[in-house]
Amino acid sequence: MNIPTEPIGSIPRTAELLEAISSSDSENLEKLYNHAVEATVSAFEKTGSPVVTDGEQTKASFVTYPLHGSPNITEGGMKIPFADGHFRQLPLLTKGPFRYKNYAVQYLKKAQQFTGKPVKQAVISASALSLIYPPGGIEGYPQETFIEDLINECEKDIRQCLNNSAWKVQMDFTEGRLSLKLDPSGNVLQHFVDLNNRVFNRFSDEERKRLGIHVCPGGGHDSTNSADIDYTRFLPVLFKMNVGNYYLQYASETDRKKVLQTVKENMKPGQMVFLGVTDVNSSRIESKEEVRDTIIEAAEYIPVNQLGTTDDCGFSPFCDDISTTRETAFAKITARVEGTKMASQILAQKYHTISQ
Ligand SMILES: [Zn+2]
Repeated sequence: MNIPTEPIGSIPRTAELLEAISSSDSENLEKLYNHAVEATVSAFEKTGSPVVTDGEQTKASFVTYPLHGSPNITEGGMKIPFADGHFRQLPLLTKGPFRYKNYAVQYLKKAQQFTGKPVKQAVISASALSLIYPPGGIEGYPQETFIEDLINECEKDIRQCLNNSAWKVQMDFTEGRLSLKLDPSGNVLQHFVDLNNRVFNRFSDEERKRLGIHVCPGGGHDSTNSADIDYTRFLPVLFKMNVGNYYLQYASETDRKKVLQTVKENMKPGQMVFLGVTDVNSSRIESKEEVRDTIIEAAEYIPVNQLGTTDDCGFSPFCDDISTTRETAFAKITARVEGTKMASQILAQKYHTISQ
């Protein structure tokens, strides 16, 4: 028995890289980007992680990468407040047609240059980007046309990664839980789920086994934007996503048994649930034994052949977020990898005994 373990995506950037990004020395930056991806992939390999990522070293943020350099984008979109008082603001679309300026496959290809290991790629959800359409509308470019363009582009973003041997393609849906805070009726959440399903429904069953969705209470500077929203209200709607893999923040939840029970009641046959076993917003490094015990407990609720592990979130979803050091991030990843291996052995023994 081998319980799969995968990262979410981002790793903190080095101070040198951040300085180069802010000084916009483009020639030097390209060199530093290559070096950063190579160093990150190599550090990933040292943890024993069977699946690696590019650490999102060359992305400004997990949400806005398709928009960078786009001519029809301006500042002043929706503000997302975090518990510690800081906020992030989305840009606004100024005119149609909407097209991505950057596709995620470029990050995948760069990482693949430096490793023979399977590389996982994150993409942003259609629902997150749907928020850049201005509330007042755009003359000659109705919202329905924008949504159709958006779904086409999101599908293209995913398909290119699948066609280029991505191990998995994970859609980041961090606004899911937040939506319940902004609209407690759940209508917005249902709308987001429907929108993303319009993307997932364009793929075959076989392709959907390589597609996943990641949710969390939104990480930034070690703070969150929706951890106060009851997870057990969110999960039943989430499991209506037509997708093969769920990457769920879990380690930082206070009532884990309640979460496990909700997952058990709502997950469907054939779906994999990757539980976060390391808390990315805490500097305390989990021990491998602690990770092992987290998994053993989860296996009482989730069938072991549908159980996997991950980190609660990326370690630095926005490039300027250096609240966690690279050393801490990789130490946590090592604990996840080793703890998952320990749990696999114990569970294999247990199920071998049962089947005899
Ligand atoms: Zn996350």
